[in-house]
Order: sequence, then structure tokens, then C-alpha cells
Amino acid sequence: MKILVINAGSSSLKYQLIDMETEAVLAKGLCERIGIDGHLKHTPLVEGKEVFNEDVAMPTHSEAIAAVIDKLTSPQYGVVNSMKEIDAVGHRVVHGGEKFASSVLITDDVMKAIEECIPFAPLHNPANITGIKACQAVMGKVPMVAVFDTAFHQTMPGKAYMYALPYQYYLSNGVRRYGFHGTSHRYVSSRCAELMGKPIEELKIVSCHMGNGSSLAAIDGGKCVDTSMGFTPLVGLPMGTRCGDLDAGVIQYLMNKYGYSIDEMLNILNKKSGVLGVSGVSSDFRDLDKAAAEGNERAQLALDMFHYWVAKVAGSYVAAMNGVDAIVYTAGVGENSSATRAAISKYFGYLGVKIDEEANKKRGEDIEISTPDSKVKVFVIPTNEELVIARDTRDIIA
Ligand code: ADP
Repeated sequence: MKILVINAGSSSLKYQLIDMETEAVLAKGLCERIGIDGHLKHTPLVEGKEVFNEDVAMPTHSEAIAAVIDKLTSPQYGVVNSMKEIDAVGHRVVHGGEKFASSVLITDDVMKAIEECIPFAPLHNPANITGIKACQAVMGKVPMVAVFDTAFHQTMPGKAYMYALPYQYYLSNGVRRYGFHGTSHRYVSSRCAELMGKPIEELKIVSCHMGNGSSLAAIDGGKCVDTSMGFTPLVGLPMGTRCGDLDAGVIQYLMNKYGYSIDEMLNILNKKSGVLGVSGVSSDFRDLDKAAAEGNERAQLALDMFHYWVAKVAGSYVAAMNGVDAIVYTAGVGENSSATRAAISKYFGYLGVKIDEEANKKRGEDIEISTPDSKVKVFVIPTNEELVIARDTRDIIA
């Protein structure tokens, strides 16, 4: 069985074609500048096929999907003989609200429900819907499955997901903590249980997804019981460019002081804050590491804040779960920056965490970076959201 995984953004579309017998990625790629001009980078991962990296006209997502199918089935660049070999498509959908606690087969009713979640994710869900519709237009009756970023967090109890606002805003408007990166937290926590050789039902795990956007999740017995992102992905930890937790009074104060509109204010909180805002250097942790090493104090402060926040939120999850068996680092920063992992792990001395410095230097694989006598295991696990989407799609269409 071969499954195409699609992650559609407003002007971009990422894809992978996965062979489910081996779970090997046959080809992957990225369409960019959809609606502007269009560019496709297609990378086959089987021998004898060529990379395609050229401009292709993409006035809409339909042309982008058509170009992807064309390359996947081409003798020169392709990895299958025809579209018939693609058994199903799995779509990443950002927001499933309270309607979706797991992945689902896409039907007309499901499309309506995803549309009803647009107010919760006004930038992402419309792009995801466009991607699904484009696939339906190009691929006809091939079964399609939606996998939601929010679904894994639907097991949170009310005490974790409610905001202390008048109850009517929850009841009438769905204002609550939803959380994001759920597919990633789900993947790394289940992989962590496999690596520990224990049923996930017996484990308490703190999962740290640290990339451009960052979130932590407390996973007790395989179920998410708390997570740091909220109604939107703006809150929790300070991120590349997002502010994380913030006193709402600051918003009123700055809007009054500078006459910002709410859109201008949110643009500052989403795009100009986080480690970029504090450092004035970059949102990229590689640049921050370099600047800090050269003595840039604000870069160091931004890094210190990030480490502190991860440790502080993780500590609150240890309290929430009354213990922890494993801590997992994943995503761009978590997988690649041994300095970040070391700095955060220093805060976990009270848990009896001990890091093996040599193991912590490794990259690109599942690694246990704690020492054998560490009371809590610490792992680096490269995330694989595409594989989760493909597995869910396979299970649902079966
Ligand atoms: P996204 O949230 O966009 O999916 P990623 O998980 O791909 O992000 O993470 C991207 C971030 O990972 C980059 O902005 C960069 O800060 C960080 N990163 C990548 N490689 C390294 C590295 N070697 N050292 C430190 N940070 C890194």
C-alpha cells in the first residue's frame, strides 16, 4: 500500500509518498509560491531517479497537486507507474476543535466540520481545506483522511484546558486551550515507550517539541494531560518569533501607548517577539548560539529565557503527573542543538537526571542521552509527523 501525505499551507505544499509495507519514503517534495508563480522541488528516494527542481506554473493548489502527481508518475523522476498505485491520501489539518479527537475519513460532513473550525485557525484551516479540495479535484475518488494537530490533546481534562474566563465563552464560542503539534507529541511519546521497552500505559512522559514553534506536552499513560500552546499557537514558551505567555495587560498598554491596531499588535506578538524580539539577532537558534558565543548578551538572554521556560513548564508537568519517567527532545532545535539540550537538562538535577555528554553530541537518530544511572530517562527522538499521518490513513481506510 502506498500513501501520499500532504501538508498544504496557504502558498506552499509539502508531500511525501510512503510505502506502507516498509514505511520507506519513496519520494518527497515541496511546492512553493503557489498563487504567485510556482516552484517544485521533487526528490525521489529510490535509485536511478532524478531530482526535479524547477519553476512550474501554479496559479492554484490544483496545479500544484497535478505537478506533484505528474512527477511521482514520470519515468524520469517518478517512483510509481500511475496514480492508481496511490491507495490513499493523508492530509495534515491544523485545527479539529472539539469535534475531532482522532483522525477521520474525509466525507462531505467532515469537510463541513473542518470549515466550522476555521475561526479557530483562520490562516491554517483554509489552506488545509484548499489542499484537500485540490487533491479531490485531481485524484477523484482516492480515499482521503484528515489528521489533526489538535486531536492528541483532546484527552486533556477540563482543569487543564479551561481558561478562567466567564464560562459562556467556552460554552458559546469554544474558547479553551486546544494545543498544537499533537501529531509530533504522539509520535515521539510512543517511540519513547518502544525505546524503553515498556507499555506506554505505564509511563509518564514530558515531550519537548522545540522548533520554530515550540510546545511541551505532559503525557500520562499515553494520554495528553496538559500542553503549553493554547487557543492559538502563540502561548506557552517563548519561540522563534512568538512571545509565549504574556500578561494581557501588556497588550492594552502597548496599543494605547503606540496606537497599534489589534492586527499590528498581533503581528508584533507573532512575528517580532520570542527569541528574535529579545535578542534583536535572529529567530534561528544557530545564529543565537553563534552570537552568544561571541559575547552578545541579548542573544544569551534570549537563550537563557528559552531554557528557563522549557524547564519551568516541564517542572509543572512533573507536578501535574506526580512524577516523570522520561523526557523527550524533538524538532529542529531539540534534535540538533546539543547545547540547548544540555542547558535545559541542567535544570532537571532535582529529578536525578544525568546526561551522558558523548551521547548528547550525536545527531540524526533516536538516542538515549541520559546515563544508565539517571533516575529519569532522557531521549532525543527525531519527530516524524508524516509517518503518523500515513499510519492513521492506512488504519482508517483498512
Ligand atoms: P518548524 O517549527 O518550522 O517545523 P523546525 O522543527 O524545522 O521548525 O525547526 C527549525 C529551527 O530549528 C530553526 O529555526 C533553527 O532555529 C533550529 N535548528 C536547526 N538546526 C539547528 C542546529 N544545528 N542548532 C540549533 N538550532 C537548529
